[in-house]
Amino acid sequence: MTDYVMNTYSRFDIHFTKGDGVYIYDSNEKRYLDLLSGIAVCSLGHCHPELVETLYNQSKQLWHTSNLFKIELQERLAKKLCEISGMSAAFFCNSGAEANEAGLKLIRYYNNTNATGRNEIICMYNSFHGRTLATLSATGQTKYQKGFEPAVPGFKFIEYNNSYELLNHITNKTTAIMLELIQGEGGIIPATKDFVDTIKTIKEKNKEIFIIVDEVQTGGGRLGEWFAFQHFGLSPDIVTLAKGIAGGFPIGVMLVSERYKDILKPGTHASTFGGNFLACACALKVIEIIERDNLLMNVKTVGEYLKNELIKLFEKEEVRGMGLMLGIEGEFDARKITNESLKNGLIVGVSGEKILRFLPPFIVKKNNIDEALLILKKVRCV
Ligand code: PLP
Repeated sequence: MTDYVMNTYSRFDIHFTKGDGVYIYDSNEKRYLDLLSGIAVCSLGHCHPELVETLYNQSKQLWHTSNLFKIELQERLAKKLCEISGMSAAFFCNSGAEANEAGLKLIRYYNNTNATGRNEIICMYNSFHGRTLATLSATGQTKYQKGFEPAVPGFKFIEYNNSYELLNHITNKTTAIMLELIQGEGGIIPATKDFVDTIKTIKEKNKEIFIIVDEVQTGGGRLGEWFAFQHFGLSPDIVTLAKGIAGGFPIGVMLVSERYKDILKPGTHASTFGGNFLACACALKVIEIIERDNLLMNVKTVGEYLKNELIKLFEKEEVRGMGLMLGIEGEFDARKITNESLKNGLIVGVSGEKILRFLPPFIVKKNNIDEALLILKKVRCV
């Protein structure tokens, strides 16, 4: 049957059939501890009972009406996301790429309708923003772009964390700086304080420049704060979200600041499925559970524990990242460790070319980490 699915992924030869919390089971009933969460998506683990109930109840009520009509759940979710982020309005779509695309379109629309003459967005090498043509063009990794030329114009690239280069690239054509505060697909690389301070200074001096923070992977609690920009003390104009926001139900969100919330007018941008009843019900429930069960604190404490234990196990000085977004680089073959871990019932991932990465669900406990460490200890030497 595989032949009927387009071959755009090199997939493991495993069919998963059911999930339960931090565990997932394959078609042979083999159990795996999942510390990858479907690449930072299943933030509450698999089939969280309350999320299942929410989805089931909503599915009996109403699924979809289109955005031609008001959607009360969408209004509630937008309000909640604005409360926890300090942003002012939300646009709903279905994926990270689509959220970034919305941000890029808003910036272009603002510049064109206000005739600012600004059309250059400064992006980072090693970044990842998605697979649509514009988000691919904003992505600073040629391996993803190769064969899809020509790129959408208007993107300039600088070395991540290089304040000097950033300052040198600001001109009266610059309209935005776009970045991840921890580069996810690029190898779990956090922004330095100096770099973030430079962005803040640029923004103070040039109010016209948009700061667009891609929080598709970091947003919604993964770092132990709701958003990475809160941890880094940055005030963005646009924040993009997706992945874990609805615990595995597809959703994308663009949040915008007060100043830009009315730029896009009726008819200027849209998404058929964006913010439908099922997605919004799930996202509201995920946020409610994270708050009620104090899961941001769990992300911090278990994340710190995992970090320290990985440092000991791999005898490294540093494990990069924070909260439950961690990566470790070493003289080991990360792909081999990932493959061997799978054989032993543990799911971890690879980021960049050689970084072993961990994106556990927010419900993970220390004893799950201990279980994973035993497997890693075993496979590390294979
Ligand atoms: N931005 C970041 C930081 C990501 O990590 C990803 C996906 O990995 C995307 C954007 C694209 O998201 P999606 O695959 O939902 O389009």
